[in-house]
Amino acid sequence: MIETHTHSFFSFDGKADITDMIKRAQELGVEYYCVTDHFDYDYSLLPEYQHIRQIDLPGYLARMKELKKEYPFFHIGCELGFSKGAVPLYQKLPFEEFDSVLNSVHTVGPYDAYNPKFFVGKEKHEAYKMYLDAIRQSLEAPYPYNTVTHIGYVRKNAPYADTNLYYDEFKEELDGILKRIVELDKTLEINTKLDGDRFMPEKEVLERYYAFGGRKISFASDSHEPSRLGHNFDKVEKMAAEVGFDHWTVFKKQKPYSIPFGSRC
Ligand SMILES: [Zn+2]
Ligand SMILES: [Zn+2]
Repeated sequence: MIETHTHSFFSFDGKADITDMIKRAQELGVEYYCVTDHFDYDYSLLPEYQHIRQIDLPGYLARMKELKKEYPFFHIGCELGFSKGAVPLYQKLPFEEFDSVLNSVHTVGPYDAYNPKFFVGKEKHEAYKMYLDAIRQSLEAPYPYNTVTHIGYVRKNAPYADTNLYYDEFKEELDGILKRIVELDKTLEINTKLDGDRFMPEKEVLERYYAFGGRKISFASDSHEPSRLGHNFDKVEKMAAEVGFDHWTVFKKQKPYSIPFGSRC
């Protein structure tokens, strides 16, 4: 099992002590674990989110480096919430300190796409298209990143009867995103932080990524607490194998490494 996207108390919404997360991961037999706490510099530019605590970068690196010495399977990453305005802030980060850099879209315009205010006055198609356009823009981030996260995040708190992000409804936008991920040689995350057994992105989207030549995928429970670690890992691995994938991609000092499906070494 791998865990490429997890959080601790260093994130503003963290619920767990990092050592509790690591101990649980050990119990589960996780071969590669990466802590990727939130860097929400996009929030720092928006009036709605001034109260959100930003990460203590020196404290984060110091604590995680101690743990990396102790646990060989443990790695240090970050989740960068993209916005165009926040690019110059992210460019100042010490990227050489990170094993893995996640490129995420949470904010679309003035709101996080989880915020009910984002959806006010918008039909589903308009809201989801705005979100996908933001992801397309995020792929051009001029700083080093490895993985494109949770395509479908917009659905998590959407007020529509059917919140699924269907490939058929957004072919053009999704194809554009997937082709660009392949061109840029980035990794596509499969994220299971949803209620029920659905994933972000959906299987149809993974099939298109595979058809475009994409072979780099990662698994993310996006856990903020130990009990959710490994959530639906077996289902995701089975589904990805059905599509044609045979390995996971993980990063150490931002270099890709393959872990074959079914591996326990
Ligand atoms: Zn995220
Ligand atoms: Zn996350």
